[in-house]
Amino acid sequence: MEKTLAPEVAAPAQVSGECRAPRTWRTPPPLSRSNFAALRAYVSDHVEEEGCDNTLRHAQTFLAGQALDAASVTAWLKEEGGYCDCEVLYNVADSPSERS
Ligand SMILES: [Zn+2]
Repeated sequence: MEKTLAPEVAAPAQVSGECRAPRTWRTPPPLSRSNFAALRAYVSDHVEEEGCDNTLRHAQTFLAGQALDAASVTAWLKEEGGYCDCEVLYNVADSPSERS
C-alpha cells in the first residue's frame, strides 16, 4: 500500500491565481457561444424537471430543433466530458468568458 502524498508534494502544475477562466474548452465548439448557452439552459431545465437518463436525450432534443450539426455537437460534448445530459452541465465548461 502506498501512502498518500503529503500536501506539500502536490504537483507544481496546480498553480492558482493566474487563470482568468475557471476552465476552457479543449476543442473549439462547433456551435456559437450563444447557441451553447441556449443548449445548456435547455438541458439544465429539462434535467431539473425530468432527470438524466444517462444519455444526451435533452441535448439531442434541443439540437434537433436548431439549425445545428447535431452529430458534431454531440461528439464535441463527449470530448469535453459530457456523456449524458447532467455531465454536460457538470463537465462541459461554460463559455470561458462567462462565469456562473
Ligand atoms: Zn447524467
